Amino acid sequence: MSNLFQTELEAALQAVRVASVACRAVQKSVSPETIAKQDKSPVTVADYASQAIVCKILGDAFPNDPIVGEEDALELRAGEHASQLDRIVGEVAAAGITGKPDEVCDWIDRGHHTGGTSRFWTLDPIDGTKGFLRNEQYAVSLALIIDGQIEVSVLACPNLPAADAWDSELGALFSAIRGHGAQLRSLSNSQSTPQVVRVSGTARGSMARFCESVESGHNAQDVTGKIRQILRSEAPPRRLDSQAKYGVVARGEADLYLRMPTKATYQEKIWDHAGGVLIVEEAGGRVTDMHGGKLDFSVGRELTRNRGVVVTNGLLHGEVLAAIREATHGPT
Ligand code: AMP
Ligand code: MG
Repeated sequence: MSNLFQTELEAALQAVRVASVACRAVQKSVSPETIAKQDKSPVTVADYASQAIVCKILGDAFPNDPIVGEEDALELRAGEHASQLDRIVGEVAAAGITGKPDEVCDWIDRGHHTGGTSRFWTLDPIDGTKGFLRNEQYAVSLALIIDGQIEVSVLACPNLPAADAWDSELGALFSAIRGHGAQLRSLSNSQSTPQVVRVSGTARGSMARFCESVESGHNAQDVTGKIRQILRSEAPPRRLDSQAKYGVVARGEADLYLRMPTKATYQEKIWDHAGGVLIVEEAGGRVTDMHGGKLDFSVGRELTRNRGVVVTNGLLHGEVLAAIREATHGPT
């Protein structure tokens, strides 16, 4: 294929596939006792290992591209975390990439860029850490942004059914190149044929199937409840962690995903959205903030110019924005 950005897509697919191998291996070690003790160390190990792997693979393929990653290795370099660092180095090696502890820290710190305009990648090494710890949904999300425009994105959802909600195989790998549609592959089988992904055709708010965060601290569930009432949508919302919600809207299993602010001061992070946004847009959907404004990925590590996020199949977007206005009675 001679698409612009095909090389970037291939490197990104490879990076998130290898990172997902490490995430899955670590997740197997999460026991009911770990959950009961609220021990977050497995997700911390997987988070760092995933960022190290993606930054190493991208760094080899595109040495001049900066990366805006969620994590940094400052704490890890402190002597008291040596055993945790050893475990991370071991998980990265088990996924097929060997490096000394200092090198692994350097790979993680490639994610230190501040974003803005120009060309950079943004990475969430494990999005949905709470879902990871519950053995539910999480994602590895990676996007290439140039002058504020998302050009390429990949989204690995290791616990989402591969092809659709009824598939017994787990592991969905979504991807998109701007202008070239969205695709879905099996995460576990790199030889599988990609499928074209399209949003649903639901055109009436009363028929809309919502999805939203599991965590009430990440989305104002009372407000989304009001919006459902205004639209007269009776189906209960599907609650799942991480950008898997973007995947679910992109392949038409839900018609919309709302993220309504819970706090006046919280700013959405670019890595929590960039991977998912292009996949939904290329699948025929639409993404804006709660006031209908375009998400602005050119202003740093956070979406400081936006409030809330509204993801729909496109057909419902106007009706949903009107319902949000009614539910929130003006700006929040
Ligand atoms: P989700 O899995 O959709 O609930 O979203 C997980 C993401 O929510 C994490 O990666 C955090 O960056 C982000 N997050 C943390 N606090 C908040 C908040 N108050 N509002 C919205 N998102 C948040
Ligand atoms: Mg996240």
